[in-house]
Amino acid sequence: MEIASQNSFVLTDYTDRGYFEQSWRFMIDNYSKFAIATWGSLLAHELAYFIISFPAFIFQFIPAMQKLKIQQDKPETWANQWKCLKLIIFSHLFIQLPMISTVFTYTEITGTPYDYESIPPWYKLLFKSLLCLLIEDCWHYFFHRILHHGSFYKYIHKVHHNFQAPFGLAAEYAHPIETIILGGGFFIGIVIFCDHLIFMWLWMCLRVIEAVDAHTGYNHWQPLHLLPYYGGAHFHDFHHKIFVGNFSSTFTYWDKLFGTDHQYRKFCEESKKKE
Ligand SMILES: [Zn+2]
Ligand SMILES: [Zn+2]
Repeated sequence: MEIASQNSFVLTDYTDRGYFEQSWRFMIDNYSKFAIATWGSLLAHELAYFIISFPAFIFQFIPAMQKLKIQQDKPETWANQWKCLKLIIFSHLFIQLPMISTVFTYTEITGTPYDYESIPPWYKLLFKSLLCLLIEDCWHYFFHRILHHGSFYKYIHKVHHNFQAPFGLAAEYAHPIETIILGGGFFIGIVIFCDHLIFMWLWMCLRVIEAVDAHTGYNHWQPLHLLPYYGGAHFHDFHHKIFVGNFSSTFTYWDKLFGTDHQYRKFCEESKKKE
């Protein structure tokens, strides 16, 4: 039941529903599909990226976290973090926003619903998001390996390797062409599994959580570590440290299968002996 139209917003009485349902229905009642798909998706990505990166940013000021810092000899610097933030903002506005602006057209063509009633159960959303992680990881492994060859590395991927000791905000620090190439692995999951706008946003959040975790530079636990063969910060940090091997984004099995983790395994064995 519509109870009021105030400040040009439609206010419908959903007070007997949960906070999430009220918020989602308010969004659907008051914004066009174009605005939700474009500006809503941009906002969802910005909030996810900066909120998820924030704890990793704070770690550098917490003395107790320093023992978990992976590359102890390379602390975060303000100069690096500022340099990173500038490119991230540029990339989000001028590379990712144009990519995000295709969401409306895509959902119109495929008939992807936005309404509250069509939201799939949370366990289906989670299960399909985890399948997307597997697909993205496969795409990332092979294209990341290609990006380490000759001119691809020199002119494109070298940008991402600017920080030998990564930090959370650096997860999306990359050349625009790399953002587009590796972004392909993200969109495959959407093409296969997307049955509601909320799936796109959830899968995007999961991918951001994974990418930021891989770049925190701190070997701390978080729930994704429950996944079998999950790599995490320790695995990807080594890739930044030695510029080779450990090409996967999320899991360790592609590197294990192709032997591109042999230096990492040797390093882990030697570290264990020293303990
Ligand atoms: Zn990286
Ligand atoms: Zn690389």
